[in-house]
Amino acid sequence: MVIKKDGHPVFRSFLKLLPSYPSANDTHLKLRWLMFARVMFACLLLGATLFLQIQNTDPVLASLVASLYLLIGFIFVLSLLYGTAFRHIKRQKLFAYLQIVIDTIIVTVIVLITGGFHSLFSFLYLVVIIYASMILYMRGGLFLACLISLEYTLILSVDFSISANLAGVINHFSLYEPSAFEIVYKVLTTSMACIAVAVLSGLLTEQNRKTQAELRVMSTHVKRVEKMAYMGEMAAGLAHEIKNPLASLVGSIQLLKDDLSCDPDHGRLMEIVLRETDRLSTLVNEFLLFARPPAGRPELLHLKETIEEVTGLFERDPHHAMRFSVTKRLDSDVRVIMDPAHLRQVLWNLLLNAAESVQDDGMIEIHAVAIKNNDVRIHIKDNGCGISADVVPKIFDPFFTTKSEGTGLGLSIVHRILEAYDSRLDVQSQVGCGATFSFVLKRSGMAN
Ligand code: ADP
Repeated sequence: MVIKKDGHPVFRSFLKLLPSYPSANDTHLKLRWLMFARVMFACLLLGATLFLQIQNTDPVLASLVASLYLLIGFIFVLSLLYGTAFRHIKRQKLFAYLQIVIDTIIVTVIVLITGGFHSLFSFLYLVVIIYASMILYMRGGLFLACLISLEYTLILSVDFSISANLAGVINHFSLYEPSAFEIVYKVLTTSMACIAVAVLSGLLTEQNRKTQAELRVMSTHVKRVEKMAYMGEMAAGLAHEIKNPLASLVGSIQLLKDDLSCDPDHGRLMEIVLRETDRLSTLVNEFLLFARPPAGRPELLHLKETIEEVTGLFERDPHHAMRFSVTKRLDSDVRVIMDPAHLRQVLWNLLLNAAESVQDDGMIEIHAVAIKNNDVRIHIKDNGCGISADVVPKIFDPFFTTKSEGTGLGLSIVHRILEAYDSRLDVQSQVGCGATFSFVLKRSGMAN
């Protein structure tokens, strides 16, 4: 018999009913899972109560069973209400808080009617804290742990003798009445357990969230690298083919221009042809730099000196002088192994973009700071126009530009160069607040 990969059709239909697996930040999906799990829990409780009723006809337990049925009915009605409200509620975090706070009350009622101090169901508190931390992270988990401690203190402080149900359950199972010391001890240990579970599951969830974020960044990077390699391969040949005839064209027109110097109109036309071929040639060169960056000759570089040198030249460049100020924070004695031309090109392109994004009196910050794992992080930050969230995924695409005179190759070149050093260009930006581009390089073991 051949078993299909996805199993029996009935099983597949059941799987379709399940909410898809939530990612670390997906409150919406997590809430769907929670609502689904709550209904499952109510079904289980219903089964267990039915079993208890069939097995035990003792009238003492009748009121307990009745209370449980009431509670189960309440959970079903509540789930129905949640399900209806779910699509319309915008503030899902708040909705999650509301649901989980009500869950703590439900668990407290279960603990109360199944024996209070003696109840076997106080472990349910820990389950609530675990999923609270998963949905609301450490802060939410801790808040609910405190709330649960309060509720537990409250029910254990209730005088057992005033609850007929409880007294019945206690007598039925021949349980003793705890002393005040035992109650305080139990409240304290339960509260501590709740807080410990909140901290631990909160830490795990935070860790999971960070790992997933890192994975997302890595997978975007890998996709980008693959795309660029593919485009580079395709384009490199073409760019070479364009470059050679272009050089002949420029040479021939130069010769013609010298011969036709008598006609000013023709001269002007030649100027235009030469200017445009020059532009085309720069574009092809830049494109070749992106498509097939030169292997480079890595050498030991003093990072601070190289950055000072590039920023010095950049600040003196007449195209953008006086429009911004550059502040630097550069750790001394940090060395990296890199081709100096590559490092200069990377810094220049990033500085150029930063300068083009700022208005007069713009601020550009360049930091090179040693970080853990023998790395150095270099970041270039500006207070310019910033990049909107929908544009960010496109800025590394070759030829993507938002500038009238842009080529859209600056960042692609930086990306390709850094790839060769196992580094990655990251960007953080907010429209109107500027952008920060950063990358990490390995420090050389020969650093002082
Ligand atoms: P170009 O500068 O020729 O447009 P790039 O590849 O260097 O090409 O940049 C692509 C696009 O990324 C730019 O057109 C711009 O929209 C955006 N960009 C890059 N750096 C910055 C920055 N520092 N601030 C704002 N936008 C930026």
